[in-house]
Amino acid sequence: MNNDKIKQYLEKLDYGPAPESDAKVKEWLRSYGSLFGHYINGTWQGPAKIGYFKTINPANLEVLARVAHGTVEDVNAAVEAAKNAFLSWSSLPGYKRAKYLYAIARAIAKNSRKFAVLESLNNGKPIRETRDFDIPQVIRNFYYYAGWAEILEKEYPKHEAGGVIAGIVPWNFPLMIATWKIAPAIAAGYTIVLKPSKTTPLSVLMLADLLMNEVKLPPGVVNIVTGKGDTGDLMVQHPDVWGIDFTGSTEVGKKIRTATAGSGKHLKLELGGKSPFIVFANADLDSAIEGVVNAIWFNQGHVCCAGSRLLVEESIYQEFVQRLKARMDKLRSGQQLDKAIDIGAIHSQDQLDTIIELVETGLKEGGEIYQPKGWIQPENGYYYPPTLFTNVNSANTVVQEEIFGPVLVCMSFRTPSEAIQLANNTRYGLAASVWSQDINVALDVARQMKAGTVWINDHNRFDAAAGFGGYRESGYGREGGREGMASVINENLVMDRFRREWNPEPKLKIDNAEYVDRTYRFLIGGKLARPDGATSFEIRSPENKLLGLVGDANRKDVRNAVEAARKAADSWADQSTHLRAQILYFLAENLAIHYKRFAGVIAKQTNVALKGEYNCSCLCEVKSAIELLFHYAAMADKFEGTVQPVPERMLVNAVKEPIGVIGIKAPDEFPLLGVIAPLASAIVMGNTVVMIAGKNALS
Ligand code: NAD
Repeated sequence: MNNDKIKQYLEKLDYGPAPESDAKVKEWLRSYGSLFGHYINGTWQGPAKIGYFKTINPANLEVLARVAHGTVEDVNAAVEAAKNAFLSWSSLPGYKRAKYLYAIARAIAKNSRKFAVLESLNNGKPIRETRDFDIPQVIRNFYYYAGWAEILEKEYPKHEAGGVIAGIVPWNFPLMIATWKIAPAIAAGYTIVLKPSKTTPLSVLMLADLLMNEVKLPPGVVNIVTGKGDTGDLMVQHPDVWGIDFTGSTEVGKKIRTATAGSGKHLKLELGGKSPFIVFANADLDSAIEGVVNAIWFNQGHVCCAGSRLLVEESIYQEFVQRLKARMDKLRSGQQLDKAIDIGAIHSQDQLDTIIELVETGLKEGGEIYQPKGWIQPENGYYYPPTLFTNVNSANTVVQEEIFGPVLVCMSFRTPSEAIQLANNTRYGLAASVWSQDINVALDVARQMKAGTVWINDHNRFDAAAGFGGYRESGYGREGGREGMASVINENLVMDRFRREWNPEPKLKIDNAEYVDRTYRFLIGGKLARPDGATSFEIRSPENKLLGLVGDANRKDVRNAVEAARKAADSWADQSTHLRAQILYFLAENLAIHYKRFAGVIAKQTNVALKGEYNCSCLCEVKSAIELLFHYAAMADKFEGTVQPVPERMLVNAVKEPIGVIGIKAPDEFPLLGVIAPLASAIVMGNTVVMIAGKNALS
């Protein structure tokens, strides 16, 4: 290069194109004729029964491949294969399973550039991100869970893998989220059927190729079925599926929860979010501006925990917004394989339409937008410029709805408590970040965020060793960390232990004196309340003898109970674990004083003592309830959080927090124990409870 050219470049300091080659990926696609069946029982199935759908490159709409649409036969075959593999896989010693997970991690690492290019092509996200984030996370996940497979028997000696897991994943981090499902499941001895998103199945299919040809994972341990929502629904409904591990929208999460209610299927839901990004006046503003870029424009804002609600302290609001706009002007878009771009393509026409529609709604509701000056984007693909909304308030649609695109809304606050209120004013609770140089302010505000993850002076930072997951409509269960492992651990519940260990007890002599009827009331907000509808229902003995009447709650009673539980939630959660334990001990003591009375009532309701059902008398049920109260009281302050050093020079402080108000429907089976078990475990952890007793409600 001659001196003039060098001078020219230095004066301009402009970016030249720096494309990554897609040759190897195209070659891999051609080796399959760009046509994929399902990966079931260690082999490819085909041809598709009801046809194939196209999967494209959203940056230029080129068709990359065609992929089979999963039918009921395909789902049945995949579940059957997983079921057949389950016994031998789950009975392998943990260290042998670990060896496979290590092998998968290594095989992906050896092919990491191919995976990064394919992921970028199929999703539209910049190669810089798939190369430096998605694929390194995928590899780390397998290494991390290989470690868990190794130590599982020691850490969770009571764990028994339950069966087949159905993993259903979205399109925003197609392979990374798939490995959040696959790695912990196979580490813990489950087998899995996984469905990638309709639009981004290719990287998961490349993984299948690797499992079959390089890793030689035993057939049936991992099965991949491709398809749309209907295929996912077939997996959810399948009777031989033990549990569902779902990541996706809150809307579909709710449908899955409804579909599985009462089925006993283990369920983990990782859903949507609208996460706050709070900047205090004493924050390092340069870092905070870069933090915003990473929080909302990483992956075009297609990030469940994107910092999509920017809250800035009023005294620096104007300055911060000006600086942010100046930074937005420097963002670059282009073809996703160009290593020097910041913003890639929106992943589909549907998603682009949703973003456009929500921005129009925001404008109609009075918001103002800023988009970078002189913004240039490719013409053929699905692109949308980075967008900043100001002049909005908490009631606006764009402030409440998850846009799932490069759109940020910005509001100001005056005091830390206003920031907390604004931040928590959402139906979601996935993540938040707090930006301040004052550690006291940062920690105090972080503690009060109703969010699964709170970053301090950072955002969108992940590691396999750090638990991640939501509150409220962002779902429940965790990915990563000990918490992520615990999400698939299947230990016999304490209740089961009591059930197994109960011994026959001398039968209780039932006092046959006539039952004295009393007005039963609800316990709401510490007071005994009469049913609002002035109605009640009968409790009868197995011989159909009337034992008493209990209140029949209507909508208003439930509302009052929820309101009372909500009101008590914050102060109860703030109580020390010691105090909560003391309350359970006190309850246990009182139950012990009145144990004969309780046992008598249980006997009348269920006749258990007379029939010897469950090999246990009613006295034994009361005794077990007392033991259980002691057990949970003892656990109250043994359930500490952890401080975890994770590789990326950060310290993760994981604390166990209450969920909030929990609604519990007690089972009919054990009238007292069925109430005490869920109630004690919930309140001892700082939750408040609205509980409906089972049909034998007198005890
Ligand atoms: P989506 O809910 O539309 O689809 C997710 C998956 O569910 C897809 O594989 C889809 O085919 C399948 N599906 C659709 N209907 C189904 C049904 N009735 N039964 C079973 N499966 C069904 O979500 P999406 O558009 O692919 O992804 C975006 C959403 O995912 C956003 O809301 C985002 O916040 C959320 N997300 C959450 C996390 C998290 O960890 N919390 C991570 C990434 C994405």
